[in-house]
Amino acid sequence: MCQKLAVLGKDILKNQPIALDLLSKAHKEDAYLSVIYQSLKDNPHKFSKFAIKDSVLYKIFYVKHFQTENLLICLPDIMTPAAVHTLHVNLGHPSISATIKSFQANYYNRRAAQLIRLYIQSCHTCTFATKPDTKN
Ligand SMILES: [Zn+2]
Repeated sequence: MCQKLAVLGKDILKNQPIALDLLSKAHKEDAYLSVIYQSLKDNPHKFSKFAIKDSVLYKIFYVKHFQTENLLICLPDIMTPAAVHTLHVNLGHPSISATIKSFQANYYNRRAAQLIRLYIQSCHTCTFATKPDTKN
């Protein structure tokens, strides 16, 4: 189940109502996101940087370069480690900053950067890989 949740993307979400339900349920059980979720339900203008669409909580991210808004999936704490693992492994073990950048292009979790740093510092493949040309 974790593996499946970890690869959630916006396109997949649109086509899989089951994934939407699971994500929506997890939002309501997450200590941090549940407060935002409920507050937004009560008053849609309370948090201007968050939005609920199809029962899923999104973080509104303004892309200055394109002068447009991008919706990032709010990832509950319980789903974040699996998402970080899948992202890092599927991208071929990139650096901490590259993994954080990839994560933040699709997802929002307030502890993600810290979690990604800890995860990669303990990643066996990264620890034993020799990277003579990388600074990071
Ligand atoms: Zn790694």
